[in-house]
Amino acid sequence: MKIWATVLECNVMPLPTSTPPPYRGRFAPSPTGPLHFGSLVAALGSWLHARARGGEWLVRIEDVDRTREVHGAAELQLEALRRFGLEWDGEVIRQSDRAAAYQAALDDLLARGLAFACHCSRTDLEPTGGIHHACVATAAREQAAIRLRVPNERVIAFEDAVHGHIAQPLGREVGDFVIKRADGCWAYQLAVVVDDAAQGITDVVRGADLLDSTPRQLFLQQQLGLPTPRYTHLPLVMDDEGRKLSKSLAALPLDTDDPLPALMAAWGALGQDMATVAGSTGVNDWLSRALLQFDESRLPRDPQTSPHRTT
Ligand SMILES: [Zn+2]
Repeated sequence: MKIWATVLECNVMPLPTSTPPPYRGRFAPSPTGPLHFGSLVAALGSWLHARARGGEWLVRIEDVDRTREVHGAAELQLEALRRFGLEWDGEVIRQSDRAAAYQAALDDLLARGLAFACHCSRTDLEPTGGIHHACVATAAREQAAIRLRVPNERVIAFEDAVHGHIAQPLGREVGDFVIKRADGCWAYQLAVVVDDAAQGITDVVRGADLLDSTPRQLFLQQQLGLPTPRYTHLPLVMDDEGRKLSKSLAALPLDTDDPLPALMAAWGALGQDMATVAGSTGVNDWLSRALLQFDESRLPRDPQTSPHRTT
């Protein structure tokens, strides 16, 4: 990491504008409340990962699930990122504006017989533990969900930069999964895959709570003929009782008027050396030091978050 940072510092020759960036990362919060500490760890980790390589860093608002959205939360999250000095490149895109792109992907999958309308209810799928291998609906619903067909024996494997080799028997453990919900909402899995490809994302750096979603996203990329980015899953921040912070009562909003303590704590949660950034005079000074000192090899690996790791 330090080598990259040094190259960045010494490289005064700008790249030709026609050359695509070798690295494009993103932070993609859901607007379900103010930015909390767990989100800051993911934002800082992905920002450092991108900037230390001289890469671009985009922000995407993942508001595809309108039932969970909190009005005004997206603006609060963006303001918090600015207060923490985490500036992004380009326009912020919102998944709520992207329905046409998701529909085009869905139509393509339906036309090729890779996706299908499903009327199965939760009760219908109880005998198979909620896993869908074939339609067993006893009655047609008013509106069908759309599922992606996953062959029973299909296994998806990939290399995660922190967690190593991950392999999931997708057909057996997940089955045919929903890409458009019966209530009309686009499923997260479809939206994130379409958006990552449309934005040319080369590196996905995010919380390990999404590690188990990654095989579904790889399978969707394969079915849609889209490239697969590199993946780095950061440690989850747990509260004292071992619960993921964002789901616990302890997920209090960050103090954006006093960013340094939270940045220091996030640096610690990323396994970095606290001494290297101590005594910073302000946010920009802190981020400059952090960028030079960020050491990807120190990112902690939590075995509980990677059940499919095979090495
Ligand atoms: Zn079904």
